[in-house]
Amino acid sequence: MFRIGCHLSSAGGYLAMGQTAESIGANVFQFFTRNPRGGAAKPIDPRDVADFRAFAAEKGIGPILAHAPYTLNAAGAEARVREFAEATMADDLRRLELTPGALYNFHPGSHVGQGTEKGAELISAMLARILAGFGSIPATTILFETMAGKGSEVGRTFEEVRALIDAVEAAVGPEAPLGVCLDTCHVWDGGYDIVNDLDGVVAAFDRVVGLKRLKAIHLNDSMNPLSAHKDRHACIGKGKIGQEALARVINHPALRDLPFYLETPCDLDGYRAEIALLRSLRAE
Ligand code: FE
Ligand code: FE
Ligand code: ZN
Repeated sequence: MFRIGCHLSSAGGYLAMGQTAESIGANVFQFFTRNPRGGAAKPIDPRDVADFRAFAAEKGIGPILAHAPYTLNAAGAEARVREFAEATMADDLRRLELTPGALYNFHPGSHVGQGTEKGAELISAMLARILAGFGSIPATTILFETMAGKGSEVGRTFEEVRALIDAVEAAVGPEAPLGVCLDTCHVWDGGYDIVNDLDGVVAAFDRVVGLKRLKAIHLNDSMNPLSAHKDRHACIGKGKIGQEALARVINHPALRDLPFYLETPCDLDGYRAEIALLRSLRAE
């Protein structure tokens, strides 16, 4: 089954997101767990969650992908910045226990001059503490998002992503629910040529990280050329990756069964049109 959807506003709650997804032809969706710039999360209405879960089961919607605020920096140089990231992520995971089977995606962080190794150490240590403090194995799979390598972002290379997974696993054990979300704009900007060598990129991911870790795809075109390290998303077919290459992504045998989440600069009508376009490009 083709699982395709997009980022939605969480302002109206879970059921409203499910209904919006259905209305635009989506069967998965992503949302920010709270204001993307951080801050306190709205209290969860258990009734809304129950209504959403019934609706999602009936309509075949899921998995949902909760995105951590992108301003969190687990690798920040200041303790205050790291503590905020840690408290926020721990709280997000606790809230996600209400929607078992969800995915939780986060940007590993930016080392802000401390070096990739130090950054990776801070990130993996934080995640290990969060998991150790959780008390049980979360009902959510935590995904490291592949990054474009803008500024001092950690997680641009598959090797960096693998090192993060290994370090967390070494600390908390192999049962840690860890995976990867591959963002097509980010890997392209990061230097992986998914236009001319998608098979090679998939093989490299498998060799370095392992395809069993790949749990979701952020499907975006990019405003910038290969290796630009910029991270500016474009609408499907309107960027440097292009419609043909993205059609190969959604049909690739190693990727086609993953859920795809659009994060293109679109309004709802734009997303509806992109989802219809991608459905027409999907080979059954
Ligand atoms: Fe992201
Ligand atoms: Fe993304
Ligand atoms: Zn991005």
